[in-house]
Amino acid sequence: MEAFIKKHEFNYICKCLFDLNSTFRNCPDPMIVTTTKAHIQNKILNQFNTLTEDQKSILNIDKLIDPIKIDGYLKELDSYVYGMPKISSAALSKLFRKEKKLKLPKLNEDSKLVYLGWIDPGIKKLLIAYNLNGKLVGMSCRLSETNTSTANVCTLCNHVASENDVAFVSPICKTSSSNSDAYKSIGFHICLDSKKCNERITSTEKLEELLKEVNNIK
Ligand SMILES: [Zn+2]
Repeated sequence: MEAFIKKHEFNYICKCLFDLNSTFRNCPDPMIVTTTKAHIQNKILNQFNTLTEDQKSILNIDKLIDPIKIDGYLKELDSYVYGMPKISSAALSKLFRKEKKLKLPKLNEDSKLVYLGWIDPGIKKLLIAYNLNGKLVGMSCRLSETNTSTANVCTLCNHVASENDVAFVSPICKTSSSNSDAYKSIGFHICLDSKKCNERITSTEKLEELLKEVNNIK
């Protein structure tokens, strides 16, 4: 069967099954375990708009009757997961053509990604590329050096960490040329390690919202 689970949907399932794992381990009441499991099953299925019977049976968690089954199930499920389409270096250079001296990342074809993100220390920027409805879009975010001791929350994956891991960035926004005064300035917190962020992100809503805003896509 073809892959039918998007990477961020898979992350969401992992999160749900992590909850199921703790229910198995911490809840002594079998009735509550059954109810929680049914609730988790619904949460998993509700992520998808359409599913075939075969896909539904793959996502059926009835077979998970104890916590040691969960890891193996997730490994199996991973073969139905797909990430963003392959990007060529040429497409990346074109996407960020305004960045002089940009260093492109090593493109690992095997990794399943929600988005491609990398830091170019030379230009002090975090670059993000994403496939928005079939079109490659990107944003080039300035890394600012601040010195706060408070914890930050990543806008994309909700990870909480100090600014060494989750930092404030400000993307360079495109504005409509007819209104050159409309200079937009936005900023947000994001994981500096995009690889790890990709393993945690469970929804692309915020990412798409930001990319639309930055690229002036209506
Ligand atoms: Zn993150």
